[in-house]
This record gives sequence, C-alpha cells and structure tokens, in this order.
Amino acid sequence: MRNKYIRGFCPTLKKPIFAEDGLLVRLRPSMNTMKSDNFKTLCDLSEKFGSGIMEITSRGSLQIRGIKKLNYKKFVDEIFKEIFKGEVDSNSNIVINPFWSPEDKNVKIYNILAKYNFKNLPEKFGFIVDLGNTPCLKNISGDIRIENSDNEKILVRAEGSDRGKELNFNEVNNFVLNMIRWFFKNKNRKINRMSELLKIKKLPQEWREHKQKLKNYNILPRNYDQGQILGTKLGRFFAKDLKNLLARSLTPRVRITPFKMILLEKVRDYRDKNFIFKSHDQFLNLSACIGKNHCENSLIDTCALAHKIKGKTKLKVHITGCEKNCGITKETQILLSGRKDFINFFDFRSQECNKIQKNLNDFSSELFKDKDKL
Ligand code: SF4
Repeated sequence: MRNKYIRGFCPTLKKPIFAEDGLLVRLRPSMNTMKSDNFKTLCDLSEKFGSGIMEITSRGSLQIRGIKKLNYKKFVDEIFKEIFKGEVDSNSNIVINPFWSPEDKNVKIYNILAKYNFKNLPEKFGFIVDLGNTPCLKNISGDIRIENSDNEKILVRAEGSDRGKELNFNEVNNFVLNMIRWFFKNKNRKINRMSELLKIKKLPQEWREHKQKLKNYNILPRNYDQGQILGTKLGRFFAKDLKNLLARSLTPRVRITPFKMILLEKVRDYRDKNFIFKSHDQFLNLSACIGKNHCENSLIDTCALAHKIKGKTKLKVHITGCEKNCGITKETQILLSGRKDFINFFDFRSQECNKIQKNLNDFSSELFKDKDKL
C-alpha cells in the first residue's frame, strides 16, 4: 500500500539533485562505516562547499545539502581525493546489519555482494544483509534479503515473499546470482523492484520453501557491545555538530544505520543535546522530508509540524512537504503529506489506508489519542 506513495530517483556523488537550497549529493561508504577522521573531513567539506546540513536516509546513506553549483566539481574532487582515495563508492546498494563484527557472516556476505558488477540493475534495487545476533533490518527496503535461518544456515529471500531458501554459506553466492538473473529474465521495462515483479510472477517453488525468522530488534539510542547508538533529529544535523561529537567522544569509527542513527564505535554513555541519546526521546517516532526552504516542491514547513506533534503520539509518523512523499518507509504508520491549503492524513494500518484532510490547527493530542488506541 505504501509503495504507491514512493517516487523519485536516487542522487549519487556524481549525479546530484538540484534542490531549492543548492545541489544535493548522496553517498554510502563501504560497510556503511567511516573512520572518524574521514567523517570529520566530510563535515569540513560540507561546510566549506555546502550549507553544512547533512542527512541520513532511510537506507543509511549520507546526504549533503546546499552545495553551490560553482563549488560542486571541487567538492566531489576533494571527497575522492581526501576520503575515498581514488576508490568509487560503488557499494551503494547494500545495507549491512550495523552490529557486524570483523569476519562474521555479515562481513563475508557483504564482501561477496560488493564484487557484483551488474551495471543494468535498477538504481533502487538493493541487498539487505541482516545476519548475526541482532537482526534489525526487516523494515528496511530491499530486493534480495540475506537473513538468519535455523541450523547455522542462511535464508535468502526475495522481497515480497515471506519465505525463502535455506542455504549453506558457500551456496549463497550462486543462489543470489541466479535470483538476479531470474529478475532480469522476468521483469518488464516498467518493473524495477523485486516486490513489483512478485505481484505478476511467482518465484520458483524451491525458492520459497522455508519460513523467515520473525525476530527483529527495535534499535534505540543506547550502549551496545560495539559502541553507543545516537539518533539524529528527523534524520538531519549540522556538520559542525557532528564534527564536535566525533572529536569529543573520541570514537575511532562511525557506523551509519538505516534508522537515521549512528553507532559510535568504542563509545559509551556520551551525552550531546544536538543528537538523541535517550531511548525515550519524543523525536524517535517522527521523521520528515527536508520541507520548505530546502525543497522547492514543499508546501509546508515539515520541521515545524514535527515540533508541533512531538510527544502527542507513539505511532510512527512521517511528514512530507508534497505528494512525492520522499523518505516514507515500511515502518510508517501515519503519513502527513502537505498540500497547499491542508495536510493529507494517511493511516496505513488498515487495508483501505484511510485518508482524511486536516489543516495545521487540527494536530492536537486528541486527534492522535483515538488513533493510538487502534
Ligand atoms: S517536499 Fe519533501 S516529499 Fe516533496 S519533493 Fe521535496 S523532499 Fe520530496
């Protein structure tokens, strides 16, 4: 149901988007991880060439906003020179479980997938590697999912099917390659995602023999074995604040998660009011696209609306400035989508997806009270 509200294309470092506040680029470092020093350099470049506003997307990529057209080439050249050291950020379609440890199955499978070179895969087509003790990526959008299974085996599952194929580690590579070939063979020109294909074409029976495991951890800001997780308010922050956090917390490396949170390796109990460090923070269930003054399509100030409804509901609410509804995820329960004179209020918890129109003054606790009871 939510999918029909998702539109747009993916910017990259080399293919920026023109936005009201300047050029916007997106990058995902290898393993969704960056050395602290590199991240600090990126913060400096974001301030020097852009607006200094950075974002984390719902698939764990970094976005840098407000780059002036004149600065763009220099900005990208410096990123490749100073941070990627000549490498291409080519792993942009793999999301790895943020609690990976060196040489675990997450890393081994990631390294196999990172070698694939399917130039004609649709740009949004992605892989989810969610293995280990803390599976948590069930609600992250993907197309081929590699998950825990019983008996030390690995389940490979096509998005759109709740069943997959149990495999030994050494069988995963060939199986995933076959699944990609099957996707190419059966898709038509309009189909770009696995879940779209599964609506018109059944997977081979032997690829849906085994049930997925349902365990999925809800990740909150707190200490974990690998370090401390901190949230970002509405998925965005100022480069100067992040640089300050990295410098003061002394973290050697940062893992960027698809929950709009970052994991600071080897850090515990750090507090910084520019980031979310409490597991019950009122911003944790809210997300919003960048909105007015940054995106020319936006008809409302999404950030102001988020502040207005903060603490009024525990439901997962996503706010957008126009009908393109960027940033909506599988987890979104309520979508508030801005229009010229009103807000469309979508409730995704029912099959029909109730839609009502509200004006900005309607967002009282009462409105959400009834919804919270459902
Ligand atoms: S206003 Fe928001 S939803 Fe609309 S195009 Fe801009 S970022 Fe996307």
